[in-house]
Amino acid sequence: KETVSKNFIEQMIENDIAEGHCETVCTRFPPEPNGYLHIGHAKSILLNYGLAQKYGGKFNLRFDDTNPTKEKMEFVESIKADVAWLGADWEDRLFFASNYFDQMYEAAVNLIKKGKAYVCDLTADQIREYRGTLTEPGKNSPYRDRSVEENLQLFEEMRAGKYADGEKVLRAKIDMASPNINMRDPIIYRVAHMTHHNTGDKWCIYPMYDFAHPIEDAIEGVTHSICTLEFEDHRPLYDWVVREVGYEHPPKQIEFAKLYLTNVVTGKRYIKKLVEEKIVDGWDDPRLVSIAALKRRGFTPESIKMFVELCGVSKAQSSVDYAMLEYCIREDLKLKRPRMMAALNPVKLVIDNYPEDQIEYLDVVNNLENPELGSRKVPFGRELYIDREDFMEVPPKKYFRLFPDNEVRLMNAYFVKCTGFEKDEDGNVSVIHCTYDPASKGGNSPDGRKVKGTIHWVAAKTAVKAEVRLYENIIDEEKGVYNEDGSLNLNPNSLTVLEECYVEPALGEAKAYDSFQFVRQGFFCVDSHDSTPEKPVFNRIVSLKSSFKL
Ligand code: ATP
Ligand code: MG
Ligand code: MG
Repeated sequence: KETVSKNFIEQMIENDIAEGHCETVCTRFPPEPNGYLHIGHAKSILLNYGLAQKYGGKFNLRFDDTNPTKEKMEFVESIKADVAWLGADWEDRLFFASNYFDQMYEAAVNLIKKGKAYVCDLTADQIREYRGTLTEPGKNSPYRDRSVEENLQLFEEMRAGKYADGEKVLRAKIDMASPNINMRDPIIYRVAHMTHHNTGDKWCIYPMYDFAHPIEDAIEGVTHSICTLEFEDHRPLYDWVVREVGYEHPPKQIEFAKLYLTNVVTGKRYIKKLVEEKIVDGWDDPRLVSIAALKRRGFTPESIKMFVELCGVSKAQSSVDYAMLEYCIREDLKLKRPRMMAALNPVKLVIDNYPEDQIEYLDVVNNLENPELGSRKVPFGRELYIDREDFMEVPPKKYFRLFPDNEVRLMNAYFVKCTGFEKDEDGNVSVIHCTYDPASKGGNSPDGRKVKGTIHWVAAKTAVKAEVRLYENIIDEEKGVYNEDGSLNLNPNSLTVLEECYVEPALGEAKAYDSFQFVRQGFFCVDSHDSTPEKPVFNRIVSLKSSFKL
């Protein structure tokens, strides 16, 4: 569904176009290659890409790789894969901020020449002390008034490797009394003797984020640099940098509120712990909300797009209910996926009056709400698996499924009437017996006889044995996110593994990431790590019932 009203970013962009501040809109997604992307990043990706699309502009994928300590090349590939999977096409506009180190250095030298930057010898602690507080202005550094010549020489020496890490920094000369602490002569370059994954040992000084980011945007011709709310206070510095460095078409920074989801873990620190303690099966465990995890669970790019659109863009911090994400994947798959039969908790049903070795192939419509999906042949025989919950020895009121002497419909097949059952040594029902009415083929009886229950089934002889994994949220916020000791209050039932399920033979051929509806059970996706042709593994994406209403 289209939203009619425009969000505040769209309004701003349209104003900028109307007033002639920008011709072609250019946005970017600027990940630091230091981890896997998550649902929050998906919002940023789709927002930036969507705006570029909407205004006929450009979208850049730029790796913000200016910090050599935390970054790893392996993340570059995973991030590219995730962005591409979401459908955000950067075409030939893939950039690396580290390729701009020369220009950044030059920009810094020019600031020095203009008297707008100086080399400072204060220690990190002293700089913090001199910076002042929210209520107290800062103090000028004793090195603030160094001559341009001296600054140029010292900065060149910093670059040449003469100083140890932390010995000297380059600072912007702005205003130590500014009410905005970010403007109190922020550090723009630091010494760091480190090998960078792209530039190797060429540099031993690296630009700080607040200096580098606006320059990256300006070099690429970004018009609207969209970031999250915590950078609002940095915007005056962003503007100062693009102005003082002297860009003719300065980009504009716009902030919006981060996306938070309830009942999931998004903090990297916590996820890392869950991975290390093997509570989850890696960064793409289907209970997590990294993009890789959502993909493995069976979410589609379309469902994530619908989700971020429903969330909207705002300046107000809030958390979105995980159930809304579930709503989106249900909506997306509802008409697109065939409805198959699977017995997750199987028990045998024997039709005693059905010919012993006969297998017949019944026509089954793939999706009653979408005739375009056609139909398939499903084998039926004397022995079937049904779900244990579909039989009760002593039924409570309003139980319309199988129980002794009751007649139900086997979905797409025949009416069957329960004639008895057997139990194993432990007293569990092991076999249910019934008879069928051959005249009720297709699921209706010519005499107009009605049954109240319809149950699904899988023919035993041709069934494929599969593992099915059922999930619950890893956190239940109503029970509290944290324990007293600060650790996460994890839901012990977040994963249930059903090792002996039986599914239709067609599902034996499913490939990784294929998804299906299992009638009455939800939507399921073939697990990309563990599924094999010999033993398919299905992850439940979402059940059919929802607590969420739009
Ligand atoms: P994290 O700490 O979760 O990795 P980050 O801000 O460090 O987040 P970056 O790689 O620097 O991650 O971010 C890339 C882009 O994604 C930035 O523009 C950032 O604002 C945006 N982003 C990060 N988290 C969210 C979120 N929860 N909601 C919306 N946008 C986000
Ligand atoms: Mg990050
Ligand atoms: Mg960041």
